[in-house]
Amino acid sequence: MSQKGTINVAVENIFPLIKKFLYSDHEIFLRELVSNATDATLKLQHLARIGEASVELGDQKIEIKIDKEGKKLHIIDQGLGMTEDEVQKYINEVAFSGAEEFLEKYKDTAKDSGIIGHFGLGFYSAFMVADQVEIITKSFKDEPAVHWTCDGSPNYTIEPAEKENFGTEIILHISDDETEFLEESRINELLNKYNKFMPVPIKFGTKTETLEKPEGAKEEDPAPTQEVDNIINNPDPAWTKQPADLEDQDYKNFYRELYPMQFEEPLFNIHLNVDYPFNLTGILYFPKMTQDLNVQKDRIQLYQNQVFVTDNVEGIVPEFLTMLRGVIDSPDIPLNVSRSYLQADGAVKKISSYITRKVADKLKSLFNEDRKAFEEKWNDIKIVIEYGMLSEDKFFDKADKFALYPTVDGDYYLWDELVEKIKPAQTDKDDKTVILYASNKEEQHSYTAAAKKKGYEVLLLDSPIVSHLMQKLESSKENISFVRVDADHVDNLIKKEEEQISKLSDEEKEALQKTITETIADTSYTVQVEAMSSDAAPFMITQPEFMRRMKEMQATGGGGMMGFGNMPDMYNLVVNGNSDLVQSIFNEKDEEKKSGLIQQAVDLAKLSQGLLKGEKLTEFVSRSYELIK
Ligand code: ADP
Ligand code: MG
Repeated sequence: MSQKGTINVAVENIFPLIKKFLYSDHEIFLRELVSNATDATLKLQHLARIGEASVELGDQKIEIKIDKEGKKLHIIDQGLGMTEDEVQKYINEVAFSGAEEFLEKYKDTAKDSGIIGHFGLGFYSAFMVADQVEIITKSFKDEPAVHWTCDGSPNYTIEPAEKENFGTEIILHISDDETEFLEESRINELLNKYNKFMPVPIKFGTKTETLEKPEGAKEEDPAPTQEVDNIINNPDPAWTKQPADLEDQDYKNFYRELYPMQFEEPLFNIHLNVDYPFNLTGILYFPKMTQDLNVQKDRIQLYQNQVFVTDNVEGIVPEFLTMLRGVIDSPDIPLNVSRSYLQADGAVKKISSYITRKVADKLKSLFNEDRKAFEEKWNDIKIVIEYGMLSEDKFFDKADKFALYPTVDGDYYLWDELVEKIKPAQTDKDDKTVILYASNKEEQHSYTAAAKKKGYEVLLLDSPIVSHLMQKLESSKENISFVRVDADHVDNLIKKEEEQISKLSDEEKEALQKTITETIADTSYTVQVEAMSSDAAPFMITQPEFMRRMKEMQATGGGGMMGFGNMPDMYNLVVNGNSDLVQSIFNEKDEEKKSGLIQQAVDLAKLSQGLLKGEKLTEFVSRSYELIK
C-alpha cells in the first residue's frame, strides 16, 4: 500500500531556497546526514542503556558508499530507525526537529548523550546536491520497514520496504551539476574535514592491512594481507577525555592528529573543560610563534558535539588567542547568526572571557611550576601574551604574574621585580622611573654599553607590537616611562639634578651649532651642543623616543596615530662640547679643514647608527683612506 502526499505546505517554497541561497556551501549536506546517522546511533545506545530498547547493538558504525555507475551516494547507519509515523512526523513535517523532541522527552538522562540535532536545515540539505532522495528505514521497535522517496518537489511517496535490521539508509541521486560528490577523493576530503572526530565509527571503503608473517615463513615470502574497514574517524579524541586521564604524550599525539602537516611540537597546551554556565571542552596549543603575525595557517577548529563547524573562530575566541591552535567544542555557540551578532551574544561573551581566564591561569601556573623553563619559552610565546595584554584588560591585569621583561644579558624580570631593581639608579629628578631598552642588541650596542657602564639595566624588547605595549604600560602603571637607549645621550636618558660644567659659553655653543648645521646641510638632523663628560663620545646620533615610537605604532597598526607614518625620520646630532675633539674643531682656524673634520666626525656618528649609506658611504671610505695615507 503505497501512499502519496505533499510535504507540509508551509514549506512549499523551501527547496529552491535551500538549493540557491541558504547554503552557499553545498558540501555541508554530508555533515548533516552523517550527524543524523550519528544521532540515530547515539539515541539507540541511550534507549538501550535506560532499558527502553531491548536490541543487540553490536559494534555500530556508519557507512558511506559511492555508487558511481548509478550516480548514487549512500549513508547507512545502524541507529534507531523510523517507523512510518515517525517518517511522517520528522521528515514530512519539515520544520520539525526530532532531535529537539528527543532531548526534551529524555531531558533528565540524555543531557550529555552528545546528540547533535539542529545545525541548520538538516536532512533537507540533501536536496542541495540530489535530484531525488530515498530513505529506507526500519525502526528498532519491530515495525515494518519504510521506503520514502522524494524528487525535490514537495511531493513524496511512502511505501513498505524490505529491510532486515534496524537502522536507516539514505540514498542520494546526485544531480548532474554536483557530480564532484561521486568522487572518492572529494568525499574523503569532506569526511576528514567535518567528521574526523565524530563519536560513531565511520566506514568509507576498505583498506589493505599487512599482517605479521607466520612463524617459519621464508624471507622472500610476501607478508600476508587482509582487507579491513577503512574507518576515517577517531571517535574518542583527546579533548573529550578528562585531563587526568591524559599524559603529555597524548596531547602531543593529538596535536599531530589535528595538524598532520605541522612538524614542530607545540610548546604547551591548555585543556578547557566547563559545563556550567555553558558547555565547553577543548584543547588549545601554544605553537612556536614567528615574528610575523600574519602567518597562521593552521587555526583553531570549532566543533559542536565532535562535528567540525569552522576554523574561523573570530568573535568566539578573543583575537589574541586566534594565534593559538587546537580545538574548541561547544554546543552553546549559536551558529546561524552573523559574526557581529555573535560578539554581542551573552553566552559567547562568557565563553570568550572563560577562555581568556583559563589561558592566563595556565600561564601563571607554568611560570610558578618551572620559572626557568618558562623563561626559555618566552621568546616563542611573548607575542601572544603581549598582544593579549594590549587587547584584553583582564588579561593585562593578570599578566603581572607571568609576563616577563628580559634584559639584553638574558635575565628575566616580572614587572614588580624590574621596577624594584631599577628604581634606585633609574629614577629621574621628577621621580619617574625610566626603563631603558634596546630593540636590537647589535645595532644599539654602543648605546647599550654606555648605559650599562652607568649601572643601568637595559631590557631587550624586540617584538613587533611592543611599542604599543609600552604605551599601555606607561598609561596604566604609575610614574614610569620607557626610553630606548639611543633616544638621547646617556647622560640625558635619565635626567638627574647634577649638571656638567660647560667648557663652552652659551655664545660659543650657538656658534658651533650654527657651523655644524651649515656643514652637514641635512634637515633631518637637529644639532644640539651639550656639555657632557669629556670622555663621552664627541658626536652621537640619537632618535627621540616619542616620534620614533609613534611611527612604529602606526607601522604596526595603531589607530589614532594617523599622520606619523608619513613623516620622515628625525634625528638629533648630539655634540659633546666638552670633548677634546669638539674643542679642537671649535678652535680650528682653517675653515676648509674645520668642515672636513666635522664631515668626518658626523659620518662616523652616522656609521655607528647604520645611517651612512650609498654615495655618502663611498665618499666616507675614500676620504678615510686619504686621511690615513
Ligand atoms: P535534526 O537533526 O535537527 O532533528 P534533521 O532535519 O536533520 O533535523 O532531521 C529531522 C529528523 O529526522 C531527525 O530529528 C530524526 O528524527 C529524523 N532522522 C533523520 N535522519 C535519521 C536517521 N538516519 N535515522 C533516524 N532518524 C532520522
Ligand atoms: Mg540533523
